[in-house]
Amino acid sequence: MKDVMDKLLKEKVALVTGAGSGIGRETALLYAVNGAHVVVSDLNEAGGLETVELIKAAGGDALFVKADVSLPEDNENLVAKTLEKYKVLDIACNNAGIGGESNPVGDMSIEGWKKVIDINLNGVFYGMHYQLPAMLKQGKGAIVNIASILGQVGFMNASAYVAAKHGVVGLTKNAALEYSAKGIRINSVGPAFIKTPLLDQLDEATMNMLVSVHPIGRLGNPKEVAELIVWLSTDKASFVTGSYYAIDGGYLSQ
Ligand code: NAP
Repeated sequence: MKDVMDKLLKEKVALVTGAGSGIGRETALLYAVNGAHVVVSDLNEAGGLETVELIKAAGGDALFVKADVSLPEDNENLVAKTLEKYKVLDIACNNAGIGGESNPVGDMSIEGWKKVIDINLNGVFYGMHYQLPAMLKQGKGAIVNIASILGQVGFMNASAYVAAKHGVVGLTKNAALEYSAKGIRINSVGPAFIKTPLLDQLDEATMNMLVSVHPIGRLGNPKEVAELIVWLSTDKASFVTGSYYAIDGGYLSQ
């Protein structure tokens, strides 16, 4: 990438899970635009490779590593491949997640519950479990875990998602307690409803309803969320750790 002298993340190595689409893709792109080498990871190979091409077209550097975040061994391999290519890991954004089954608790299938918890909560734990030792080696690092407004409040028929995202907020706080004095800052970000393929399954009436529950009068876009994630990942946020940052068009103020 040309002229990275004044780039915030010059020569940093950043890893993003679920980077083949939506918020993860925009975050990966913005890391690259700010000078980082980016490890683009996703279960969706086509989406991940497309993100790598977008980064390269913008003059950046990226590597694709396929990983299912719900599998510990894939998270281990992701960090190993990162170190193999770039030697260090400076930044990790644990972003991969799914919406999952929509049902009240009594009707939610056991498989549906387990799938969301496995990807949206266990995936963040497995991610940090392997990322932290790599960061400890250099005594510095930043992790941003993607939660949701539903890490703070409930939402009809979304118990597994809500429980997982509340879990991500708690897990983030605990990891920050354990690692902040060792040079690693760990924060969570809580977007409200953002226009990404995650919402593709919703009908027009539901989309209109969602717009109406955001005081700002619209849904967010993934680039807006990426801006916050990237800020938290840089030294500009050097005193920020263990925090939950909502980015929600006023949703949680109601
Ligand atoms: P998205 O556009 O659907 O992108 C998520 C990416 O993760 C997709 O490429 C998806 O692949 C991939 N993925 C799914 N399961 C995976 C797994 N087991 N391992 C690795 N990758 C996997 O979603 P998004 O809206 O950007 O969401 C990103 C994060 O933001 C999620 O954690 C989500 O919960 C959170 N969030 C989103 C919103 C919103 O309104 N969009 C609001 C609050 C929080 P496939 O395409 O193959 O599924």
